Order: sequence, then structure tokens, then C-alpha cells
Amino acid sequence: EQLTTAPDAAHHLQELLSDEEREHHITGLAGPVLPLPDAMFPQLFEARVRAQPRAAAVSHGETTWDYASLNAAANRIAAALLAQGLRSEDVVAVVMDRTLPWAAAVLGVLKAGGAYLPVRPDFPARRVATQLDRSACRFVLGQGSARTLLADTAEVSGRARTCLLVDDLLQDGADARDPGVEIRPDQLAYVYFTSGSTGAPKGAQCEHAGMVNHLYAKIDSVDLHEGDVVAQTASQCFDISLWQLVAPLLVGASARIVDTETQLAPEHFLAELDLAGVSVAQLVPSYFEILLGELERRPRDLGVLRSISITGEALKLDPVRRWFAVQPHVQLVNAYGATEVSDDTMHEVLTAPPVRDFVSVGRSLRNVRTYVLDEHGRLAPLGTPGEIVFAGVSVGRGYINDAERTRLAFVTDPYVPGERMYRTGDFGRWLPEGTIEFLGRRDQQVKIRGYRIEIGEIENKLRAATGVRDCVVLVEHTTGTEKSLVAFVAAGEHVEEEALHRHLAALLPAYMVPSPIHRLDALPLNENGKVDKQALAALAQTLG
Ligand code: ADP
Repeated sequence: EQLTTAPDAAHHLQELLSDEEREHHITGLAGPVLPLPDAMFPQLFEARVRAQPRAAAVSHGETTWDYASLNAAANRIAAALLAQGLRSEDVVAVVMDRTLPWAAAVLGVLKAGGAYLPVRPDFPARRVATQLDRSACRFVLGQGSARTLLADTAEVSGRARTCLLVDDLLQDGADARDPGVEIRPDQLAYVYFTSGSTGAPKGAQCEHAGMVNHLYAKIDSVDLHEGDVVAQTASQCFDISLWQLVAPLLVGASARIVDTETQLAPEHFLAELDLAGVSVAQLVPSYFEILLGELERRPRDLGVLRSISITGEALKLDPVRRWFAVQPHVQLVNAYGATEVSDDTMHEVLTAPPVRDFVSVGRSLRNVRTYVLDEHGRLAPLGTPGEIVFAGVSVGRGYINDAERTRLAFVTDPYVPGERMYRTGDFGRWLPEGTIEFLGRRDQQVKIRGYRIEIGEIENKLRAATGVRDCVVLVEHTTGTEKSLVAFVAAGEHVEEEALHRHLAALLPAYMVPSPIHRLDALPLNENGKVDKQALAALAQTLG
């Protein structure tokens, strides 16, 4: 079995690692080992409320709630759930748009000891019904429109659920005392359904210990402190929305809910960040690039904004370089992780463009162990591509009521007895400095004429070529079983395809150099802002 490596790493290829290398892999790639806090999020938040009841906790539009008001609202919701018979770990769907009452609902569910399941009110009833059924959800928190949606889901699934209207629960006079429910570290905290782009959606479950560990990892990573304002920009069904809302609440900072409509126009988004005094934000790469384009066209000062984390897809080098050219004082954090492992597990903090010709996903966060495993499940040698696998407290409980798919992705950790690890399906390689180069998804791995090829590895090299803004490498099925590689690059007209060929040929074995390489002014995007590979595949056919 031929493994593909960059020429400079080829000498590391070997059957097995020496004991020393093995040790180096296991401990060298692990994050710092730190004690977990002695209480879980709800109690830690309570302590903050007592310490600074009048500090701003969350704001939206013209309204700001302080810690005491947010806590009182959350307590009312928790009390109502408990009065309805909610037990520890019962799943509570929150069918609400991102508003202040939504923030209270999230906290209320956690304080009552339930597991938070976000549902967007604009989702089709069929999809919602599948998720509620799959998670055996009996409680729903919503606003007016939730009733209709629930009636529709009940029609689909034939099950009725208790629906509480949050606006009623928040009336003055309702009991606003802390419910005093004690939360265990191994208690289920939340369930997020994956987008389902690869098959039916899966409900990833995470426990309180993993959640609180991640919150402190983010607090460290972006140096979150009292008085900071974090932009709460992500959709409630994307797990990053959780830390954006609640991490600030552990340090005396606040969250600013920014509406989706505002984010549609980058100039409105920037104006709101400025107005709300946002200091920390997190974006997906496609939106980051939209923002960057706006700042290049109309340069401006970003006020107190000092840190932008980027997550969800690979962060490319070109936008990072361009960012520091226009905003040298706003740091970027390449945040890498997955919902199944309580969100981020690795990060790379950048205060200038990286020295290497790609952006690494950096180092493991606290209490995370990272392995790069070959196809036999052995530790891959330094520099050799393998699957990225995570272990430690971040590893979630698996997919709700889905033993089959849980078993495939969550496996025994052979290096630490009694622990489990999560197979990301991502490929990467371990670099000498103890960081990881991300090489794309497992399904991006192909074999051509017997050679195993990581498409991401070719793309990373191509992106580093002068003048290339972005690129996609595709596998073309030519005659019968013959396969070949074709590349599309977004670059200016002066970039010659021949020069790109030479660039790649100097860095990669011949079987990894795509031919042809097509130059485009820009890569086509689909409706989610991701590169439209289907459109490119069709184009490849046309261009021949
Ligand atoms: P999260 O909620 O942590 O952003 P999702 O569960 O939505 O993650 O998706 C996880 C997958 O997204 C990862 O397995 C990886 O393929 C991709 N991903 C997330 N962050 C990054 C990153 N910084 N660089 C490259 N890929 C990423």
C-alpha cells in the first residue's frame, strides 16, 4: 500500500514507530492537562451573577439584560420545566429565533438539568419531527409560532409534546429563584443535529464536562475577560452559537446577538460590531472573506475588535495574508473541531501571516488528546497523512438513539485504558513543531493508479502558488475505471497554467499533479457560500 507524502517527509515512512516517537506523538500532540472546574456551567454562572449582578450579560437590538435579569428569566423557565416533570437529561427543544428570551431559554434548560436541543422555527415540519422523534423529546420551549410548527410535527410523527410558551413564563411574579439543581460532569448538556450533508442528520450529544472544558478553552484561546463583548452571530443550530452566548458569562463579559439579516450586508455587520463594542467574533471562512473584501474596498478602523476566530471549513492562506495587510492588529484564530467533540479541539492563533505556505490547525486545546492514525489504526509517523482522531474529556456521548453510527465514529482509545476517541473523518499530518496540517475530508481521499492521494494536500500546495486566491482539485472519471485529476484555480489573468504546473511538479510526485489546470476569475459558490464542486465537475466535462 503506497502512502502519499511530501518529498521532504518521505524518510519518515516506516512500518512502526520507535517507543520514543510513539511517546512523542501521544504526549507531543496533546493539549495541556488542566483540572476541570469543580462545578459545571449553571453553578459557575450563578457565582458570576452573585459577583456582578448589574454587569451587562447579553444584548440584542436596543435592549441589554444584566446578569441578574438574565438569571431571573432563566430561573423562571427552569422552574416551569421542573414543574412539568422534567427529569435529568430530558431533551428540551428550544424552537426560537435568536433573541433575549432565547438566551434565557438556553440557560433555563441547562439550569433545570435538561439537555438543550436547538430547533429553528423556520425549519420544515418534517425535518423538525424527525429530530424530535429521534431524540425522544417531550418538552418544547417556543414562542407563538412554535405551536403551529408543533401541531405540524405532531401530524407527521403522531406524537404530542408539552409546549411551553416562553413569553408567558417570563411574566413578572413567576418564581425567579435558582432551581438549585445540581449538575453532574457526565450529565448530558445538549444535542445538535449535524447538517446531514452526508446522509440523514445525526444528533451529536455532549456532556457538561466537555462543554465547560471547551468554554474555558475558548476563554484561554481568545483571552476573553471581563468587559469583553462577544458577537453571537451563528445560527442556533450551529454548535458554535453556544460558546458565543455562554462563554462570556463565565468571565463577566457579555454576548451581543447579531441578527442574520444584519450579517447579510457586511457594511451593516461592521456598523453593528462597532456600535455594540464587539471585541471578539467568530466567522466561517466564506463570510470572513466577504468581510475582508469589504475592508479592502473601504478600509476602516475596527474599533475595539481584537480577535476573529474562523471555523467550520479550511482557512486558506491568501485571505489571511490579505487580512494582516489591512488589519495588522486584529488577530485571527483558526479554530478546528467538530460538534461530536464539544466544538473546538485545536487552534492556531495568528498575529501575522504564517511562515509556512498553509494555515495549520495548530495545537490541541486543554485536555484534548490528538492522534493521527494510519489506515490500520496505528499512529502515523511524523509528516505522514492520516485520520485525525480526538480523545479526552471533549469526546461527546455519541449520536442520540443511534447506536450503529455511534459505534462507527466513537471507538476505544487504545492508548489510554477505559477511554473512547472520536474519528473525525478528516485527514491531516503531524508537523515537527507539534501542530497539524489539515488535508481535507476522508471522502476526499482517492486512489489513482494505486497511489493513495489526499486531494487536500494538492490543494494546499496549489493555493500557495503566487497569484492563486483559491482552488479546487477534482477527480475525473475518464474512460472506464481510469481516473485523473483536474484543478480549477481562482487567479488573475496573468497567472499562467504552465507556471502552476511547474510549481506543483517541483513539490509533488507526478501522479499528484493535476492536468489540466483551469484558471477562473472566481470559483462558483453554492447557496451556503461553499464552493460549488458539482458546477465545477460539469465545467470540467465541458472543457474536456
Ligand atoms: P464545528 O461545529 O466544530 O465547527 P462541525 O461539526 O460543523 O464543526 O463540522 C466539523 C467538521 O468541519 C470537521 O470535521 C472539519 O471537516 C470541518 N472543520 C471545522 N473547522 C475547521 C477548520 N478550522 N479547518 C478545516 N476544517 C474544519
